[in-house]
Amino acid sequence: MLSCERLTMSFGSFRAVDDCSISVARGSITGLVGPNGAGKTTVFNMIAGALYPDSGQIIYLGEDITTLTPDRRFQKGLVRTFQIPHEFDHLSVIENLMMVAPGQPGESLINNWIAPARVKDVEAKTSRRAWEVLEFLELTQIAHQRAGRISGGQKKLLELGRTMMTDAELVLLDEPAAGVNRTLLRKLEEKIAFLHRERGYTFVLIEHDMEMIERLCAPVICMAEGRVLVEGNFETVRSDPRVLEAYLGERQHLTA
Ligand code: ADP
Ligand code: MG
Repeated sequence: MLSCERLTMSFGSFRAVDDCSISVARGSITGLVGPNGAGKTTVFNMIAGALYPDSGQIIYLGEDITTLTPDRRFQKGLVRTFQIPHEFDHLSVIENLMMVAPGQPGESLINNWIAPARVKDVEAKTSRRAWEVLEFLELTQIAHQRAGRISGGQKKLLELGRTMMTDAELVLLDEPAAGVNRTLLRKLEEKIAFLHRERGYTFVLIEHDMEMIERLCAPVICMAEGRVLVEGNFETVRSDPRVLEAYLGERQHLTA
């Protein structure tokens, strides 16, 4: 479904991603792990179009999307969430969901004027969908709270909800469990598994919670220093001495 070929991305003289190739099979939940600074988020940024690689190619559904804008990728069903949630904090939770739906005719002033009935119709549909998403996430009780005020875990669920407002095919989740309490974490996990199973979403999941990776992901790709270190099933990756070494290296670096 997605193939990243020999991606390289430098910041100044520092190579954050270095000749990195990653493939994602349709219908998989592919795990992307590796110590902090390995380049995982930078890879997501390139796939989503927030950054353009210095070199390499990104092929999505058979099409070279390397130079497409994030918008165009989004329209093709390529959707991402952020490591740090990007909610509109002054808007309510339900409004945050309604914002996401693509191609709303009400965005154009002229449409409001010449086709108000159609605008109303689409708005009603968007609103219905937003409520369905909230029900699915069990968040209806906070629908009218300002998104800036809800808990970190609820913001993570809202991020997942935003992907459900679109016709997503490939969803990139950047550390969805970070800062989420145990109860919400299990719920988040269930929701991801459901969307995968019932809606046919393909996921790429960056996560430090190894239990979550083990329960959800196959295959697992471990990155270190901008490259793919090991790829395989969870057990293969976990027991690979190079992976252990990469994580130990991080710890030494952090305590140094
Ligand atoms: P990960 O998500 O695996 O923790 P990142 O992709 O966020 O890693 O970062 C990889 C490396 O690139 C890190 O050393 C980080 O400091 C650096 N980096 C990421 N984004 C930028 C940026 N916009 N400018 C400079 N350095 C960056
Ligand atoms: Mg990151």
